[in-house]
Amino acid sequence: MSSEKPCRACMDFRTWAKRQKEVYDSEKGAQKKQDQTPNARNGGTRDDCPLDKDELGSKTWGFLHTMAAYYPDQPNERQKSDMNSFFHTFSKFYPCNVCAEDLQEQLKHSPPETGSQEKLSQWLCRIHNEVNKKLGKPEFDCKLVNQRWRDGWLDGSCD
Ligand SMILES: Cc1cc2nc3c(=O)[nH]c(=O)nc-3n(C[C@H](O)[C@H](O)[C@H](O)COP(=O)(O)OP(=O)(O)OC[C@H]3O[C@@H](n4cnc5c(N)ncnc54)[C@H](O)[C@@H]3O)c2cc1C
Repeated sequence: MSSEKPCRACMDFRTWAKRQKEVYDSEKGAQKKQDQTPNARNGGTRDDCPLDKDELGSKTWGFLHTMAAYYPDQPNERQKSDMNSFFHTFSKFYPCNVCAEDLQEQLKHSPPETGSQEKLSQWLCRIHNEVNKKLGKPEFDCKLVNQRWRDGWLDGSCD
């Protein structure tokens, strides 16, 4: 068993907690940590713990889709190039390593479409759907992406 600290941002909370315990047990035997404060999902009260893979993913998608939603309709060459660089750089530093590697692969065969807000938002929707498919989650209807991330639903439920 490796005693390397498990990467919380690379796995769901249950797996991380299990690995953390294994590492802890291997280092300290069965001795209990005296100052351990349980977090909210352990039945405790904290809501300010480090993000696990799913929390990080959900918040990050929110940021990425919102950024795409507010990208210019007619970007200049500099903006197109900066947005392209952003996604390539982002994919090197995203803290969940399996997610980052997956995104790097996706970028190779589907580079960012930076020609307009519509193009970028649709491209990102497809990228996210590839991850959804891999994880067995339902695909999102990309026609609705601006309602979801910019305008709110047509029925007024976000107004
Ligand atoms: C770049 C990236 C790569 C990732 N790769 C992996 C991976 O390889 N393995 C892994 O286990 N996890 C990965 N994740 C995390 C994973 O995608 C989810 O974020 C995580 O499982 C939590 O899922 P969720 O059900 O909260 O919804 P999320 O998938 O986080 O979605 C958040 C919200 O986005 C909206 N949405 C869903 N699909 C789309 C779409 N196609 N277009 C627009 N809006 C949409 C929905 O309203 C949804 O509620 C990755 C995250 C990111 C940001």
